[in-house]
Amino acid sequence: MYDENNIFAKILRKEIPCDKVHEDEFSLFFNDINPQAKIHVLAIPKFPCTTFSDFLKNVDNENIASFFNSVQFVINKLGVESKGYRLITNSGENGGQEVPHFHIHILAGEKIGRLR
Ligand code: 5GP
Repeated sequence: MYDENNIFAKILRKEIPCDKVHEDEFSLFFNDINPQAKIHVLAIPKFPCTTFSDFLKNVDNENIASFFNSVQFVINKLGVESKGYRLITNSGENGGQEVPHFHIHILAGEKIGRLR
């Protein structure tokens, strides 16, 4: 069940501020408050979904495509496609997810280390 009081829901409702990178009809992109790389942007859809799987199951294909096209738009805007980047989405307890609103981490700007 989606928690309307999670921090990203509050950011979407503009109850707390964020350092915005891009916004469109269906998505919001902002800098992570605790960056793990020179560039660390969070991508969130404007839908109440907790995880990647929840997003895929409960949002229609047109809006799913729109969100992922926006991720690519921001990758272009950041100018990181040629040197590379890493996309991560943590899901649930075993995935180490802290904020229960589906999000993608865009990490770039330097070589990102191996997780294992
Ligand atoms: P997760 O562990 O859920 O995949 O990632 C949550 C991310 O949200 C973390 O990287 C954390 O630093 C970031 N974060 C948590 N609270 C805030 C906040 O209030 N503002 C911003 N910009 N990022 C946050």
